[in-house]
Amino acid sequence: MKIYLATGNLNKKREMSELFPNHTIVIPKDEGIEFDPEETGTTFYENSLIKASALWNIVHSPVLADDSGICVDALGGIPGIYSSRYAGPDFPKGRADGTKTPQSEQNRFIIEQTNKALSSGKPLPPGTYPNGPRSARYVCAMVLYLGPERLYVAQETMEGALVETTAQARGTGGFGYDPLFYLPELKKTAAELTEGQKNAISHRGKASVIIKKIVTELLEK
Ligand code: IMP
Repeated sequence: MKIYLATGNLNKKREMSELFPNHTIVIPKDEGIEFDPEETGTTFYENSLIKASALWNIVHSPVLADDSGICVDALGGIPGIYSSRYAGPDFPKGRADGTKTPQSEQNRFIIEQTNKALSSGKPLPPGTYPNGPRSARYVCAMVLYLGPERLYVAQETMEGALVETTAQARGTGGFGYDPLFYLPELKKTAAELTEGQKNAISHRGKASVIIKKIVTELLEK
């Protein structure tokens, strides 16, 4: 069936189409729908609900939405919900003209800030640090929104660690911070994985498995 995905991001559409092969994933742009809700939440799941309900209010049909980002323990969980606009004048509000700091600058900035925090001599902020001082995790909150009174949220993580320098960035797959996001067990960055390999272990992949079960239960019977 047709399921709307509340995003303008073609990478997300591609990943979600692979994750939901039995359904046609349609984004607002595909149907000429203007869609740019203000993400005023303070958590991933609040922002996913804001996006889902905003699109549902337009299409009145099943909507999937997600909100995701990278949380760095040494930075106290930053950039978190601001991941898409970290670095430079974008952070945390975003630029008035809608333009975005290039990902390469954001990548340089996150490594610089992490190294600064680690070499400052100050105690590290509270965090779980499962992969050492550069521990970081991707988080994804995903929602299936069938109406204001029927909604289902799953939130998942993928644990890793940032590489030490941008020169250690590896891989051309994925998107965003993936070339910097090292997975110790696989000895690869997320950008060195195929789409299928990444989906099997990623924050978005794991959240989608849960949401997929709910989609199957509610929409495929
Ligand atoms: P969203 O579109 O508001 O969910 O923002 C997601 C942002 O978080 C992206 O623009 C990336 O910066 C970052 N991000 C989330 N998931 C991933 C991922 O799987 N790989 C790389 N970056 C990610």
